[in-house]
Amino acid sequence: MESTIIKKKYEVVVVGGGISGICAALASARQGVKTVIVQNRPIFGGNASSEVRMHICGACVGGKYEEARETGIVEEILLDNRLINPQDSFSVFDVVLWEKVKFQENLDSYLNTHMYDVKVENETIKEIICTQLGSETSIHLQGDYFIDATGDGTLGAYAGAEFMLGREDKKTYNEQHAPKKK
Ligand SMILES: Cc1cc2nc3c(=O)[nH]c(=O)nc-3n(C[C@H](O)[C@H](O)[C@H](O)COP(=O)(O)OP(=O)(O)OC[C@H]3O[C@@H](n4cnc5c(N)ncnc54)[C@H](O)[C@@H]3O)c2cc1C
Repeated sequence: MESTIIKKKYEVVVVGGGISGICAALASARQGVKTVIVQNRPIFGGNASSEVRMHICGACVGGKYEEARETGIVEEILLDNRLINPQDSFSVFDVVLWEKVKFQENLDSYLNTHMYDVKVENETIKEIICTQLGSETSIHLQGDYFIDATGDGTLGAYAGAEFMLGREDKKTYNEQHAPKKK
């Protein structure tokens, strides 16, 4: 049972603390915008965290193109990691991500906090409702803008946005690498 309720208002609310959510939250906060990030795991990083261990390897294709870089905030994170974590430990990378979020001005964060409901008015998201299990706290976050970085489009789905499941076939969006059949 939740014994405590926290209600707060932000300009930007980011749901999901994987690499997308972290980059979105840092970019927002660095513009002087009051931002919060909500992550349902005890650490940041999502698939790139020590829980899953899928390292960031998009541009260089896993080392195939050594000099190809993502650039931007992702590159900043990777350079910080290179400095303090030459052994490429995933647990140390968790700390690099935590420090990026924790020491960023204008950015609040909630770990172990799962968003499970959304309040929508006139097709606009007004508030998300979250639960933080360890502290038995219900956290209600209002925002001017909400960013869905759940990796699965969960915020959008809860808000009533159209969504699809699975992988579409090539002719749906004419994507080069999509399969011919669903
Ligand atoms: C084996 C493997 C290989 C991959 N290789 C590549 C690659 O080479 N290049 C590439 O670009 N991508 C690759 N991917 C995909 C990669 O996982 C995504 O690109 C990347 O994780 C996207 O990051 P994200 O932040 O959007 O999502 P995630 O990493 O999934 O982060 C989302 C976070 O949101 C949290 N969350 C979800 N729902 C809620 C909720 N309701 N409340 C609060 N928090 C919530 C989740 O716990 C998670 O931590 C690979 C994936 C796998 C599994």
